[in-house]
Amino acid sequence: MTNSTHLAVIGGGPGGYAAAFLAADLGMQVTLIDEAAHPGGVCLYRGCMPSKALLHVAKVLTEAREARAWGVEFAEPALDLDRLRAWKDGVVGRLTGGLGQLSTQRGVTYLRGRAELLGPTSVRVTRPDNPDGDDEPVDLTFTHGILSTGSRPALPAVLSLDSDRVWDSTRALDLPTIPESLLVVGGGYIGLELGSVYAALGSAVTVVEMTSGLLPGADRDLVSVLARRLEGLCQAVLLETTVVGLAEDGDGVRVTLQGDAVAHSEQQFDRVLVAVGRVPNSEIPGLERTAVQRDARGFVMVDGQRRTAEPTLFAVGDLVGEPMLAHKASHEARTAVEAIAGHKAVFEPGAIPAVVFTDPEVAWCGLTETQAKAEGRSVQVTRFPWAASGRAMTLDRPSGVTKLIIDPESEQILGVGIAGSGAGELIAEGVVAIEMGATAADLRLCIHPHPTLSETLMEAAEVFFGQSTHVYRPKRAPRV
Ligand code: NAD
Repeated sequence: MTNSTHLAVIGGGPGGYAAAFLAADLGMQVTLIDEAAHPGGVCLYRGCMPSKALLHVAKVLTEAREARAWGVEFAEPALDLDRLRAWKDGVVGRLTGGLGQLSTQRGVTYLRGRAELLGPTSVRVTRPDNPDGDDEPVDLTFTHGILSTGSRPALPAVLSLDSDRVWDSTRALDLPTIPESLLVVGGGYIGLELGSVYAALGSAVTVVEMTSGLLPGADRDLVSVLARRLEGLCQAVLLETTVVGLAEDGDGVRVTLQGDAVAHSEQQFDRVLVAVGRVPNSEIPGLERTAVQRDARGFVMVDGQRRTAEPTLFAVGDLVGEPMLAHKASHEARTAVEAIAGHKAVFEPGAIPAVVFTDPEVAWCGLTETQAKAEGRSVQVTRFPWAASGRAMTLDRPSGVTKLIIDPESEQILGVGIAGSGAGELIAEGVVAIEMGATAADLRLCIHPHPTLSETLMEAAEVFFGQSTHVYRPKRAPRV
């Protein structure tokens, strides 16, 4: 069977389905191809959504334990792992089912199967497990294609042990069991989010990070707010430490560790979670029949409109490079579709927010202080400590911080960083400020609701002028 369509989208994650839906809204005939029953991709099936559901549970457990200090005592929680898993899977099912409906309502043809490019304008979709029984391959010709095949967990040889005791993030999100002891290899987004979940559920969690700090690349003052709390939550956090060997050993995994912080180089853990980054799914069958180019790390190379070296093919999301974030993928996808529709469009964001959904959350956008230092760029950094926030006190979370990175000449806000409860929600204001070209004065003059954590952004701007109501810090005389 050969069909034709204006646009074929390969991969149904936040890049792919955002592209398909916008293209349909703009009147294009669209086919969206993915192996899953519904659109959703890693984010919905085995990433953002199941992890956030579990992190919500972790936060409730932690707060229930902390409530003792507020004069409210709960009994130790009884965990029903089957019901917890079913609830999490239900969240995923409702969300992916909803995307299926949205796809149908828009008239997008959803083709379940595995895509192989036959050339720059055609694809074959094989459907060996098609549940409706029709397993005939479908050949499709298209005017334009968007590649959005995402990424998968990286698994270096030294960390690959064929054992159900060694997990990647997908396995950890399945909640197979609550291990007595869990070694998390990698102190990045996934290691810290899932490590926090298992620690709250009762595992003794050890985190091993090969660099000198958690969340490499993020500003240290933000990370330290989280690191201090993790000290209480985790059994150990070992920095500048690497895993040099893994072996199945009776009822556990024997791990060989190397690093100055390591007291015992051989340690036994119930389970090991490997979270050392992700690699792009760029080995798309048939890609060699096109002019699409990949870089040394395997990312598909694209221009500002997300067009590949093959004029009919665009690529978006994790497939084209860092940051590997769903919201970046969706925005790239919309740019690609607009370019295909002939609109003037380019992907040049002023700020892509990053959020680590631990407790406390760590979030930043725009220029970081670390980047400014590395680039030798002169900036002024102002901080508002949450100990001076009434709202933070009422939440018993006074250890957060909100910071602004400001251009000393124009006083424009170049970057925002927040560590504390709800930082992931608060950072959106920073994105708007940066994208709108707001100055510190703009932020200071906007009336923020009291008492909220959002006031910390306004007061960080007040700190810049030495006029914060709740912090006494006179403005330093300008350098000459
Ligand atoms: P990551 O790059 O965030 O962190 C990996 C960490 O592992 C790094 O700190 C690295 O130094 C460390 N590491 C690498 N090799 C190691 C080794 N052999 N031993 C010890 N440490 C080692 O990668 P991730 O946590 O796997 O996440 C992958 C990507 O997924 C992220 O880059 C992010 O874009 C995305 N993600 C985002 C979110 C979110 O937005 N909240 C959540 C999860 C994942």
